[in-house]
Amino acid sequence: MSDLRKACIHITGIVQGVGFRPFVFTCASRFELNGWVRNSSAGVDIEVDGLPEKLDEFIRELKTDIPPLARIDTFDVTFDSPGEFVGFKIIESEEVSGAFQPISPDVCICPDCLRELFDPSNRRYRYPFINCTNCGPRFTIITDIPYDRPNTTMQRFEMCPQCAAEYSDPLDRRFHAQPIACPTCGPHVWLEMNEKNTSDIAILDGDEAIRAAQTLLSEGRILAVKGLGGYHLACDATNASAVDELRSRKLRVDKPFALMMLDIATVEKHCYVTPDEQVLLESRQRPVVLLERKPTSLIAAGIAPGQHKLGVMLPYTPLHYLLLSGPNLPFAALVMTSGNLSEEPIATGNIEARQRLSVLADAFLMHDRDIHTRCDDSVVRIFNKNLFVLRRSRGYAPDSLSLPFDVPSVLATGPELKNTFCLTRGRYAFLSHHIGDMENYETYRSFEQSVVHFERLFRIQPELIAYDLHPDYFSTRYALKRAGTENLPVVGVQHHHAHIAACMADNGLAGDHPLIGIAFDGTGYGDDGKIWGGEFLLADYAGYKRAWHLGYFPLPGGDASIKRPSRTALSLLWSLGLDWEEYLAPCSDLSHEECLTLRTQLDRGLNVVQTSSMGRLFDAAAALAGIRQEVNYEAQAAIEFEAAVDRSEMGLYRFEFSNGVINVKDAMIALLGDIRKGVPVGMLAARFHNGITDLVGSVCKQIRADTGFTEVALSGGVWQNTVLLERVIVTLQRDGFTVFLHKHTPVNDGGLSLGQALVGAARFISK
Ligand code: ZN
Ligand code: ZN
Ligand code: FE
Repeated sequence: MSDLRKACIHITGIVQGVGFRPFVFTCASRFELNGWVRNSSAGVDIEVDGLPEKLDEFIRELKTDIPPLARIDTFDVTFDSPGEFVGFKIIESEEVSGAFQPISPDVCICPDCLRELFDPSNRRYRYPFINCTNCGPRFTIITDIPYDRPNTTMQRFEMCPQCAAEYSDPLDRRFHAQPIACPTCGPHVWLEMNEKNTSDIAILDGDEAIRAAQTLLSEGRILAVKGLGGYHLACDATNASAVDELRSRKLRVDKPFALMMLDIATVEKHCYVTPDEQVLLESRQRPVVLLERKPTSLIAAGIAPGQHKLGVMLPYTPLHYLLLSGPNLPFAALVMTSGNLSEEPIATGNIEARQRLSVLADAFLMHDRDIHTRCDDSVVRIFNKNLFVLRRSRGYAPDSLSLPFDVPSVLATGPELKNTFCLTRGRYAFLSHHIGDMENYETYRSFEQSVVHFERLFRIQPELIAYDLHPDYFSTRYALKRAGTENLPVVGVQHHHAHIAACMADNGLAGDHPLIGIAFDGTGYGDDGKIWGGEFLLADYAGYKRAWHLGYFPLPGGDASIKRPSRTALSLLWSLGLDWEEYLAPCSDLSHEECLTLRTQLDRGLNVVQTSSMGRLFDAAAALAGIRQEVNYEAQAAIEFEAAVDRSEMGLYRFEFSNGVINVKDAMIALLGDIRKGVPVGMLAARFHNGITDLVGSVCKQIRADTGFTEVALSGGVWQNTVLLERVIVTLQRDGFTVFLHKHTPVNDGGLSLGQALVGAARFISK
């Protein structure tokens, strides 16, 4: 007996709420070991007695055969004299003050629960809140750690005896499944008609509610449906008038709507799906995946005007499956767009939904499981066979990102638009879910609450705040105000430096030597107070040098001209000394008076900002090519310009560059010449994209000749243009460069705060 030892094991990673303790229990029983396992706010602790060989086998098993949703980050073992345990137990959670541990994102319904959902003999048959340790809500219902039922919004539902038995049976799939529920004890669903739309249907419950919702959808009505991270607005995506009605109610012109379809077979009726795309669609994150639309698809044209792509997701909650299943359903696909008006945050609460969505929805499919944290759908695509993230939110957040080195605790407050913030601790970065556009007051409040929530969940007390240099950003004001109140040091980070640092961190680069960072985007505040966005930086985490940039041109009226590419185009021509000839599309867009006013404004430099923005150059070129003079959503002109590219055209407009500045005049003269000759739009678009590609290749070669640098990091919203991205990568790789692209984080401003945090940390450490 004296050979008996005790192993004390401490595991961190995603080990709570994922069936880890039952897994440990089962392993321990198999090896006949005595001891216990418990959750702590720092991970999972295990103590077991056993003979050394048995303990070794047990430990090996724990490391390899882990549950599907678990992830082990660290695994520490120490040995001691035996604890003289009797049997193996799962004991109460212990809170270790100040400790933190990752939290699982929300997970789509698992195959086992899906089978039970449609099994008439199961007691949860057609129950919209079925879940188990392998699936269901997590991040959106957690109010605090450790992840136990009292720290979730399920706290107020008392388990019935049957659920309680499953919950406490270590061999049950629902052992310690915190959101466990059934029709007897759990949340329920109901349908409310929007009062003003008569009352032909009163409030309906459960299955009746779902069937009535299906009837309303097939009649072309618009429904507010409560999901995992907020309300969606749903309508039949094949019903053009329903789609148009939704657009006009939501005050949303042209911007594409996301779709939900029952299964891959349905998706394939409307879109081309590659094997990689299918894996992504079926992944437990269930993001919206951008897919190439089939010409034969019956999806209404109004879903994504001017684009070849559709954003599609598969159902991810049991309620979605119930809504999309049934005999002879007339709709094959639902619009599932965020439940909000224009750019407001999505509604999450029932009372809030009734108020805010009453002008949008004919009826509400509601339930009483509260959403603690708002979380929008994620949007991704496949690029070069890899994941390419456009919005990282539900399903991905708040998964931690691993950092290349240890960092202090930094809060990075992010950008103004597409805001996310980032908190770091040790080797982890916690990039928040999508917060949205901060100029909206509701969004700003949601930002403030989410920062507090993250700091609490991950037990992070920031030692430093990093922010964008733009003085008017709400995120900047928040950073400065809070640093003042709490007497914290701050680091202002240049927008494009943050972009490049984000790309470096996402690729795990140590940053021990600088590389070439190409930051192409719409707007970012420069060191000189001008608006940058066409930048070649020599950057590491701590600093950067602006090696090359697009020549400045004026933007009259600042943001106003962003909505009018015609004005941007004419301003660009003006700055290059090129005439505003009448046949040009931007000239016919503006009235004679508007042209005169614009010219006066430019001549006198009234309310004019200078910009080196690549996004604005794309707008200008798209406007001149006749693509679009006015935009209804961000980057619309550039997106349609990309869609217009004639892929067989190899010609290009050549850009001049010298002394650190890129001069677009020759390229613009060539473009104007083609327009005058009546060259088709597809060729104009191709030649412009090819010209920018050639420019990037040439400038990089110049930088390599000057510095010897051979690594290139790409970041900024312009790189969402995959025609440009693909060509630039081919060119750079052919010329011997190593190219880094974002892997897990958005290339656009949604990934910015990660870079801010790393720059802040690097400066803090170097001090
Ligand atoms: Zn499940
Ligand atoms: Zn129950
Ligand atoms: Fe940006």
